[in-house]
Amino acid sequence: MKQVKLSFVIPCYRSEKTISAVLDEIKTTVAKKDNYTYEVITVNDSSPDQVLSVLKEESASDRYLKVLDLAKNCGKHAALMAGYAYAEGDIIISVDDDGQCPVNQLWKLLEPLEQGYDISIAQYSAKKQSTFKNFGSFVNAKMTQILLKKPKELQLSNFSAMKKFVCAEILKYQNPYPYIDGLFLRTTGRIANVPMEERERQAGSSGYTLIKSLNLWLNGFTAFSVLPLRFATVLGISFSVVGFLFGLWTIIRKIFNPDIMAGYSSLMAVVLFVSGILMMMLGLIGEYIGRIYISINNSPQYVIREAINVNNELPKGSGHDKKS
Ligand code: UDP
Ligand code: MG
Repeated sequence: MKQVKLSFVIPCYRSEKTISAVLDEIKTTVAKKDNYTYEVITVNDSSPDQVLSVLKEESASDRYLKVLDLAKNCGKHAALMAGYAYAEGDIIISVDDDGQCPVNQLWKLLEPLEQGYDISIAQYSAKKQSTFKNFGSFVNAKMTQILLKKPKELQLSNFSAMKKFVCAEILKYQNPYPYIDGLFLRTTGRIANVPMEERERQAGSSGYTLIKSLNLWLNGFTAFSVLPLRFATVLGISFSVVGFLFGLWTIIRKIFNPDIMAGYSSLMAVVLFVSGILMMMLGLIGEYIGRIYISINNSPQYVIREAINVNNELPKGSGHDKKS
């Protein structure tokens, strides 16, 4: 049977107490099937705790464990990108370092990839978390739906698997502020969700503060969407239409009833109309900036999943070369 190589990528931050258990679980899970080999790429995102020493210790006895040490804290998504760059497997799996990802359900996560999907993402049932965090998740889901064109039913999470070509495509993104979910969505339409239970954090507390999450969120949307810029155009068109109609109405009123005072109305009409035009122009400029932005952002025109009979060497003496 063909050997399939799995690459696990784990961004590590404040996880000296939990990372060993995650590594062990990966080892025991992969050992359950014969035709799989694996490697683990851990990325220390300049964690303030001793996780790097733990990783170094583990790597001394485990040659399948790669360790990358980032020079400064760059955030989860940049850490994942660093890990992806060193992944050599056929399937690349992103895992959190705190034991929240149900790694023991790995095989369930990989099933859709065999059925022709390119990315498979764990789908967790509603989390027990504060109303505030729930609201945050709701807004986030809506925004990704509108700005990144995420299908409504698709749920994004921290445990995912992707095929090699998706990883290669994602790595073409060279700009700051990588946002893995945005990169997933711009690469392929075949993304599967696999329902499973998310576990509780094994130890410590989340490395994500409110400010850090907010920053990530804003970066994600502005880095992959020009829709916020288009907002100005829409607003401008609406304002100028309202201003125009209001002006028309004022004129008609004055014609039929010359005695009314039309000073305020006509002034309002002109203000609305002119500010509308200005906003529309701003939106237009925004549109061009947006295009420049998306171009330097390396957005792909298309991504090829597989190419058949391309770059094949022609068999010697075949009919092909008789033509010339
Ligand atoms: N993480 C990181 N850099 C950071 C913060 C977090 O690499 O500055 C990683 C962390 O190691 C973990 C993942 O992001 O693998 C999720 O972090 P966490 O568990 O703190 O977030 P939550 O599960 O609460 O969303
Ligand atoms: Mg976590």
